[in-house]
Amino acid sequence: MDFARHFQSQLDALKSEGNYRTFAELERRCGAFPRADRHGGPEVAEVTVWCSNDYLGMGQHPDVVAAMVKTVQACGTGAGGTRNIGGNTVQHRALEVELADLHGKDAALLFTSGYVSNWAALSTLGSRIPNAVIFSDEGNHASMIEGIRHSRADKVLWKHNDWRDLDRKLHATGDRPKIVAFESVYSMDGDIAPIREIVEVCEAHGALSYIDEVHAVGMYGPHGGGVTEERGLADRIDVIEGTLGKAFGCMGGYITGSTALVDFIRSFASGFIFTTAIPPAVAAAATTSIRHLKASGEERAAQRANVALLRKKLDRIGIPHLANESHIIPVMIGDPVKCRMISDILMQDWGIYVQPINYPTVPKGTERLRLTPGPHHTEADIDKLVTALGALWNRCAISHAVA
Ligand SMILES: *Cc1c(COP(=O)(O)O)cnc(C)c1O
Repeated sequence: MDFARHFQSQLDALKSEGNYRTFAELERRCGAFPRADRHGGPEVAEVTVWCSNDYLGMGQHPDVVAAMVKTVQACGTGAGGTRNIGGNTVQHRALEVELADLHGKDAALLFTSGYVSNWAALSTLGSRIPNAVIFSDEGNHASMIEGIRHSRADKVLWKHNDWRDLDRKLHATGDRPKIVAFESVYSMDGDIAPIREIVEVCEAHGALSYIDEVHAVGMYGPHGGGVTEERGLADRIDVIEGTLGKAFGCMGGYITGSTALVDFIRSFASGFIFTTAIPPAVAAAATTSIRHLKASGEERAAQRANVALLRKKLDRIGIPHLANESHIIPVMIGDPVKCRMISDILMQDWGIYVQPINYPTVPKGTERLRLTPGPHHTEADIDKLVTALGALWNRCAISHAVA
């Protein structure tokens, strides 16, 4: 086989569809967020970032930075091993205690990322519960899909956010162990699941409920415990999964649940057992970030105000954006080439960085810009973005029709 030719032809196909991915090369500047330097162009240029998942800027919070620096200086860089062989530190344990408390659960377990936590937890549940069936919302994230696939358990897809469809499908399955996997905030449309109804359906069928709160932890609920905290439903869900890499501004993922369930995953999940633990300094920074957002609602309030303001200003000039209850503002373009072109022009002419979101992250024909206003964007930043989008809308002949 001519491997090189195969690789090149696959890449050429992506390019001709407009779906070839290029990364912006940023240099983040601590304390200046959402400003960053962009490399890779003719010269280094300052940009304002409008698509970060460091939703609240916690990755640059002085207390979080100080915790990481202090721990690196005290303990060094890496963990030095898996949790089982030399890599289990006081910082890991403290973080797990903090996470269990955040979600009102008995126990928590850390992973190297949110992706790994979903993959490892679902693949272990699906493979180690005999005869299990996993009911997966059709909008679920790739990490859950891959975990379910790897488990080799039977999988039933249910219509996105449609608890009646879930109910019917659970009913039709009969007397087998059932696991229901879904998300709270879906990150591309920004819609939020009808969690109460889903939980009630799970309870009626004795199903184990598993929720991904990756885009909600730190962001919703009086202590940042996610939408399940906001809606008073955390204690009715068996597994709450989250990340330390988005609103908490660090890196790593986790699950929380009962002592027995967490001990079961800890004891059987390959994706937990056979990999080096996250650095103690990262764990310490994450703990500091979680504690801060438990006590402070200031960042969440400022962020929400900016979301509302940006939406209002987009409405005023007729830029269509998907309505939802969350902090994510999808501006629909519906064409991969235009989406990339707009993103390029925003970067080059306006110093605005919004990554185009194309297939396979979203279905073809729903290409979009995904805006994530944070507490540190100023009104001048918002005005500049809206002005730029208004100018581009006319120049690129994009529909003003609401998606
Ligand atoms: C980002 C994401 C993950 C993965 O989390 P990481 O910590 O980035 O690996 C899991 N689920 C959803 C819904 C996500 O958007």
